[in-house]
Amino acid sequence: MRMSKLFARTLREAPAEAGVASHQLLIRAAFIRKLMAGVYTWLPLGWRTLRKVERIIREEMDGAGGQEVRMPIVLPAEPWKVTGRWQTYGDLMFKLRDRHDRELGLGPTQEEVVTPLVAGEFSSYRDLPVNLYQIEWKYRDEFRPRSGLLRAREFLMKDAYSFDRDDRSMAASYEVMVDAYQRIFDRCGLDYRVVEADPGEIGGDVNHEFIAVAAVGEDEFVSCENGDYSADLEAATARPPPPAPPGDREPMTRLDTPGRSSIQAVSDLLGRPPADMLKCILYDAGGRAVAVLIPGDREVNDDKVARVMWPAPVRLFEDADFKARGLVKGFVGPQGLSDDVTIIADWSVRAGHDWVTGANAADRHVTGANLDRDFRVDRWEDVAQVRDGDPCPRCGGTLRLARGMVVGHTYQLGARYSKPLKATFVDEDGTEQPYQMGCYGIGLTRIVAGAAEQFNDDGGLKWPKALAPYDAVVIPTNMDLPAVVQTSERLYQELSALGLDVVLDDREESAGVKFADADLIGFPIQVVIGKRGIESGKVDLKVRATGEREQAPLEGAVHAAQELLAGAP
Ligand SMILES: [Zn+2]
Repeated sequence: MRMSKLFARTLREAPAEAGVASHQLLIRAAFIRKLMAGVYTWLPLGWRTLRKVERIIREEMDGAGGQEVRMPIVLPAEPWKVTGRWQTYGDLMFKLRDRHDRELGLGPTQEEVVTPLVAGEFSSYRDLPVNLYQIEWKYRDEFRPRSGLLRAREFLMKDAYSFDRDDRSMAASYEVMVDAYQRIFDRCGLDYRVVEADPGEIGGDVNHEFIAVAAVGEDEFVSCENGDYSADLEAATARPPPPAPPGDREPMTRLDTPGRSSIQAVSDLLGRPPADMLKCILYDAGGRAVAVLIPGDREVNDDKVARVMWPAPVRLFEDADFKARGLVKGFVGPQGLSDDVTIIADWSVRAGHDWVTGANAADRHVTGANLDRDFRVDRWEDVAQVRDGDPCPRCGGTLRLARGMVVGHTYQLGARYSKPLKATFVDEDGTEQPYQMGCYGIGLTRIVAGAAEQFNDDGGLKWPKALAPYDAVVIPTNMDLPAVVQTSERLYQELSALGLDVVLDDREESAGVKFADADLIGFPIQVVIGKRGIESGKVDLKVRATGEREQAPLEGAVHAAQELLAGAP
């Protein structure tokens, strides 16, 4: 490819709306162009990188026994209504009507297509297992698309679906996919973590996220410093502290705390740390009152509360709820709560005693509130938000909080879709059984964004060679010298003949502009030929990722470039 012909006009400045590095650089380096919010055109450079990601995924999926299919993007509403997702996806799904007024949707994921498909073709346990996948554009009508490819409304995904006869076989299919995913992300060169994840809206029990580490990521996760545990913050758990040893306890005493309804205000008034306070947070769980107890220095994780109370829908108490129960907001304590209130305590509450908590009267608190003597706990649960520095649930080591972006997600779905869609097969004993399914997604466009986020510097993109649109750029610095132009042309031809994807920057531009564009686009290897080089018989080589430079004799230059590429990240 000749730079003079390449459909790529790089930009000095990113548009003002581009806040994160990947968004800015992919636009500046002419990889993508915005059509409308959350919808992008892929230019030749971007498309080549996306196709490289696609090839890696296809090779690994085929190698892991997946069979590629291609399902439609435009989908009928009916099966989505059967599984309940027409409603649960709500406005996040692009919905439309055809001229006959039939309801249709644009696919955000395709369990509702693939499940009836397999059930329509296969009928016996002998047909199983099977794993079908596709690489297809997907749609989500994000309320606020942002950060370029990180939260887009149109995005390229690989989605795979496994069908097995029982739990054990499903778990085995799942393991094969998790292994394939690790090979895929390793080959892409990403810095990523496999984390235990919250089941989320697709459902199922066991599921993992593959998170590309990035400070701008929207997903928080914890990892143990000893490497034995990683989890999404919504699902993360910490080792609970040991219970408080028995001993003398203070008597419970009421005291006036006028206007002090917050933990901090009471803490300041009494000169005691927030960890000595016992928070008592009230929820309505499907009409039942639930009090959640947690030490004052910790936060409740609402996702965990929702899981504990599932399937009852959970919401925080509102003013009317407090009023109906005669409770005073900001001054609630667990002592004296009536029997019809379910009291759930986080495990960390066992570690404390002589609590300061609300006195269930306006402007009053108590000190010396103690478990069993003064208040009861109906259920002990893990409802605390894990924080940086908490002990690992596996080894007691230190958990560290980090951010990233989800680039892959795997789920063991079980019969969650096969049951409502009546997708069954005849098992060995003649009984009809629902398929045990797994589903596995990878965001290709997110991998590109994640790599751009992880591999860049002030000069621009520093693609790992597996994802770079081209392997090398040949840069003649003096276009007015025939010897420079001819030598560059020759090196370009020789490198291409060796099988490298090469761009010759044959533009009538200054060396400075060419160097800046080469850095911005992120060609892994730069081959520079100038007047001085011709005179001394040398070319300059640069590895973009490491900044490493070397000179090579003109004659051996292509092999030196090839070797540098082989050693580049
Ligand atoms: Zn650990």
